[in-house]
Amino acid sequence: MGMASSTKQDKPSSVKRVAVIGAGVSGLAAAYKLKSCGFDVTVFEAEGRAGGKLRSISHNGLIWDEGANSMTESEVEVQDLLDNLGLRDKQQYPISQSKRYVVRNGQPVLIPTNPIALITSNILSTQSKFQIFLEPFMWKKRNSKIADDQTQESVGGFFQRHFGKEVVDYLIDPFLGGTSAADPESLSMQHSFPELWTLENRFGSVVGGLIQSKLFSKKDKSGGTKGSVEKKKRPRGSFSFQGGMQTLADTLCKELDKDELKLSSKILSLSYDHNVKSLTGNWTVSSATNSDKNSHGLSVDAVIMTAPLCNVKEMEITKRGTLFPLNFLPEVTYLPLTVVITTFKKENVKKPLEGFGVLVPSVEQKNGLKTLGTLFSSMLFPDRAPNDLHLYTTFVGGTRNKELAYASTDELKQVVSADLKQLLGAEGEPDFINRFTWKKAFPLYGRNYHLVMEAIETMEKNLPGFFYAGNHKGGLSVGKAIASGCKAADLVISYLDTSSDQNRTDMEK
Ligand SMILES: Cc1cc2nc3c(=O)[nH]c(=O)nc-3n(C[C@H](O)[C@H](O)[C@H](O)COP(=O)(O)OP(=O)(O)OC[C@H]3O[C@@H](n4cnc5c(N)ncnc54)[C@H](O)[C@@H]3O)c2cc1C
Repeated sequence: MGMASSTKQDKPSSVKRVAVIGAGVSGLAAAYKLKSCGFDVTVFEAEGRAGGKLRSISHNGLIWDEGANSMTESEVEVQDLLDNLGLRDKQQYPISQSKRYVVRNGQPVLIPTNPIALITSNILSTQSKFQIFLEPFMWKKRNSKIADDQTQESVGGFFQRHFGKEVVDYLIDPFLGGTSAADPESLSMQHSFPELWTLENRFGSVVGGLIQSKLFSKKDKSGGTKGSVEKKKRPRGSFSFQGGMQTLADTLCKELDKDELKLSSKILSLSYDHNVKSLTGNWTVSSATNSDKNSHGLSVDAVIMTAPLCNVKEMEITKRGTLFPLNFLPEVTYLPLTVVITTFKKENVKKPLEGFGVLVPSVEQKNGLKTLGTLFSSMLFPDRAPNDLHLYTTFVGGTRNKELAYASTDELKQVVSADLKQLLGAEGEPDFINRFTWKKAFPLYGRNYHLVMEAIETMEKNLPGFFYAGNHKGGLSVGKAIASGCKAADLVISYLDTSSDQNRTDMEK
């Protein structure tokens, strides 16, 4: 279900051109949206492949993901994108969505998904369970020092105030390790969980706020106009695609013509020269290809930047002939993460668990566990390995254990095998092992992340037609990155609409 393809020659010369930098999911989503709206797009990607942190490998009957393993579609932008790309047929829901485990006393325990399950579960002490149920009456206010500078509260601090330390240690810490490779103390609450942060500001209690906002949204829905087209009901939760997450990136790439996606083209410099006489081409973006180090310039009307900020810092930006120094961009901390794939014969795994995966809290390192967690990949998606094998995806590193991310494959084999033996009864060595290390897997939304957001705003304010999108802004997930790319595309569209009106008035003067 591709969009109507139009050839370059058909396009009127007034068609606006946009450069998108980075062919991760945010850049590809932005390019798709712009092209669908009739703009001329060129995507520049430094690497020889598109997808960025979406990266699936097929090898000897195995399929695995070295980047994101699944995504959700809470954002409308994601729902629309999947519909428009015709990807619904390839969407793959895991066999067991709700069964997720966390380690307690060295052994996996099912994470309770409702209040009754929480009461009967042995994941938390009775005291912590009480604390959760009594949170609407007992939550502690932010201390005044933090209240003065609200952005400073850590995720750990926030949840401890509401639910106590045990909840932080056994639910929040492993969840963060599994989703951002970070720890509760270094993450900013406001930037990591903006919805809950706002909920506290509105309702005080998190539990009370959640219940009330659920009730409100139900009311809103039931009060909605009758006869409005209802979205088709779909299974909730995480999903992947046939062939892995790369399928999403590949499908987006197919929507671009060959000359609209420039791989192995690293952007080195950008310059902005406002020219009132000409209607177009205020920006020149210059890239170098691997084979040709001389940079090539392309004239465009707007730029969407989705490269990580550490890469943006290396670029040279000039504005009306003078250097626009990027020294106001703060250093972002990045967390390294290694993804280790192993397979074991089913008969060698004595205590296999049905479900999504198991997360290891930091405090459980005392019981000898060194990994952050493991996804039961072939249990979730049976086509990922032959019938007689279990394929596991294990994460190592993060703030908890940075050095281990860089360990040799042999050492990683020992570490992962030991954890899988303890947790799942996997005997002996894996039949197959593969590792992939991301030196900069995730930007850390640290307690000073508001400075990064302010710097992005400064860049956008001072550079007309320059918009920043991607996972450094507004959320780390695939869904949030897509939404961010689509929002940037919308901003470009309205910017170019207004600037052509402006130019027309200028010309008529
Ligand atoms: C191991 C791992 C597991 C994850 N698991 C999940 C998960 O299960 N669910 C989930 O929702 N999210 C997950 N994420 C997060 C999610 O994958 C990312 O946040 C998202 O894919 C980021 O997309 P992006 O487009 O913002 O950035 P990227 O994918 O980083 O894309 C940026 C692109 O810019 C390119 N670039 C950089 N410099 C230049 C330059 N000078 N010129 C041209 N191009 C340049 C880069 O090469 C890159 O391709 C995971 C991430 C990792 C690393």
